[in-house]
Amino acid sequence: MQFDIITIFPGFFAGIFEHGVVKRAIQAALLQVAVHDLRQFTHDRHRTVDDRPFGGGEGMVLKPEPLAEAVEHLQVAPRAERSGQGETVILLSAQGRRFSQNVARELAQARRVVLLCGRYEGVDERVSELVADQELSIGDYVLSGGELGAAVILDATMRLLPGVLGNDASSDYESFERGSGQSAGAGAGGLLDHPQYTRPAEFRGLAVPEVLSGGNHEQIRRWRREQALRKTLRNRPDLLQTAELSPEERSFLSALEVQSEDSV
Ligand code: SAH
Repeated sequence: MQFDIITIFPGFFAGIFEHGVVKRAIQAALLQVAVHDLRQFTHDRHRTVDDRPFGGGEGMVLKPEPLAEAVEHLQVAPRAERSGQGETVILLSAQGRRFSQNVARELAQARRVVLLCGRYEGVDERVSELVADQELSIGDYVLSGGELGAAVILDATMRLLPGVLGNDASSDYESFERGSGQSAGAGAGGLLDHPQYTRPAEFRGLAVPEVLSGGNHEQIRRWRREQALRKTLRNRPDLLQTAELSPEERSFLSALEVQSEDSV
């Protein structure tokens, strides 16, 4: 899979893809990343990429021409043919559709993803209308540029590519994942992942839950699933509305909710 990142700060990405899973995926040629300097696609002496907003207001706006030229230079297919070619051009934007594990799964099907990083007060709207296929936001907050968003999207997407994680099943049972097997695993089904422990068996007076060293796989699976339910209820109750839960799990949750109401 190929990622192209277009930015006014190419130096921002120095070193960022030289660690861990991303580095290994690049070495194994499962992933290619190219960073392009937006200023290469300007034609004036000052290599101008921004201008004042029409209608007035604070700050500067990224001009449409350099971004359009940059995408043309990459020779991605025309917009109408892109999805058929497995290509997509994404504008990072606080106004975009929210990036999520589901969107990462969707993007992981593509052959090539081009990421356009905004700066200043944002990007001329015609880039979204004419150049990009979609606008993505990485969360409900405003960043000073699209670069961190591009790195987030690249990282979350590439770890879903076949062969990138050592064991192909290993992303199936993580937080937010629905899992691919028929039997729901511990963290699958759209819940948060269950807690993990490693040695030492006791740390500052706190022991690892006994069930985990008992070797009874069915008990361990049940315990993990319960912990995932508890943690999701505590930290992300919104996920429970769409999670895949058995009737027993629903009643387990109702009991937990009653307990927590009692303790208030
Ligand atoms: N005025 C804009 C914010 C501009 S921030 C607004 O209020 O919506 C400058 C650039 O940072 C944006 O063009 C975008 O590329 C990037 N950016 C900011 N917040 C982001 C977010 N939550 N997700 C993805 N990109 C973001």
